[in-house]
Amino acid sequence: MHNRLAQFNCTVLCDEPMRKHTSFRIGGKAKYVVIPQDEQALLGILQLFKEENFPFLIIGNGSNVLFADEDYDGAVIQLTDGLTQMKLVEDNLIYCEAGVILARLAMFALENGLTGLEFAHGIPGSVGGAVFMNAGAYGGEIKDCVVAVRHLTPEGEILVTDAKDLFFTYRHTSFTENNHLILGAFFRLANGDKTEIRARMDELIQKRRTSQPLELPSAGSTFKRPPEGYAAAHIDECGLKGRSVGGAQVSTKHAGFVVNTGSATAQDVKDLMKVIQDTVQAEHGVLLEPEVVFLP
Ligand SMILES: Cc1cc2nc3c(=O)[nH]c(=O)nc-3n(C[C@H](O)[C@H](O)[C@H](O)COP(=O)(O)OP(=O)(O)OC[C@H]3O[C@@H](n4cnc5c(N)ncnc54)[C@H](O)[C@@H]3O)c2cc1C
Repeated sequence: MHNRLAQFNCTVLCDEPMRKHTSFRIGGKAKYVVIPQDEQALLGILQLFKEENFPFLIIGNGSNVLFADEDYDGAVIQLTDGLTQMKLVEDNLIYCEAGVILARLAMFALENGLTGLEFAHGIPGSVGGAVFMNAGAYGGEIKDCVVAVRHLTPEGEILVTDAKDLFFTYRHTSFTENNHLILGAFFRLANGDKTEIRARMDELIQKRRTSQPLELPSAGSTFKRPPEGYAAAHIDECGLKGRSVGGAQVSTKHAGFVVNTGSATAQDVKDLMKVIQDTVQAEHGVLLEPEVVFLP
């Protein structure tokens, strides 16, 4: 397989620890991590895996995943570092490939005097990962500015679908269910004042630094917002701040985050999540649903 991958414009890492590719810094080894350098290479690699019936999965920047401790006998295709093209296709319409980091996209919008993506500047994910789960923060959501998505079906067809047909709701889209690969997205923004856009970005980054445990590895919010209240408030009120299982801990700074204090395994995180879910369910009658995605 390694030799056959060499025909494509891509980087191939063998027996690669997934902790190097996830913001949690957790995970066993993947047989291959493959980083395609462009869309053509990605399509060729997918075709090869299909022909060989070789297992694979997709990640963007690995900032919303908990990768298993067990080694994965397949390939992880990572889209950041490769699919990173973006362009202004009309005055206020940007097309952006799936591997572009949101901060870069938000800076590109700023450089072009376009407002609407300030909320996304501090989210450490890729465009593909953000579209996948309709990422959001501080009152903004990806669905507010994505107008269409370019994606690949499991049968190999490339489609461009209007956002209104992709069932964007809170931390959910069609992609969380349909196994399509997001190749890129079109963002419609409004003309804005560069100084004001910059100021809003700075303000939100400052809010993150003050309230979130950015100094420790995590995958951001561990649970989705439940129908009643906020996950962090429920966890905090149940006295769970600081609770640990192995190297996994409920952040003492922000109860919504489980952090890796240095040696956490995926099992530690899962066990701690179960403690949190059981406690909040017992004390508040609220079932917390994971936001973090378990892979493989
Ligand atoms: C410190 C910190 C703060 C965070 N703050 C926020 C926040 O404010 N708001 C928020 O919403 N999230 C936040 N997150 C979580 C995370 O950054 C977002 O969910 C982000 O959108 C994930 O993007 P990613 O590229 O890292 O996706 P990954 O973690 O790589 O992947 C997540 C899921 O998306 C799928 N996926 C990724 N790319 C594609 C693709 N191209 N096609 C199909 N499927 C794909 C993967 O298979 C996986 O199932 C935070 C995380 C951290 C660590």
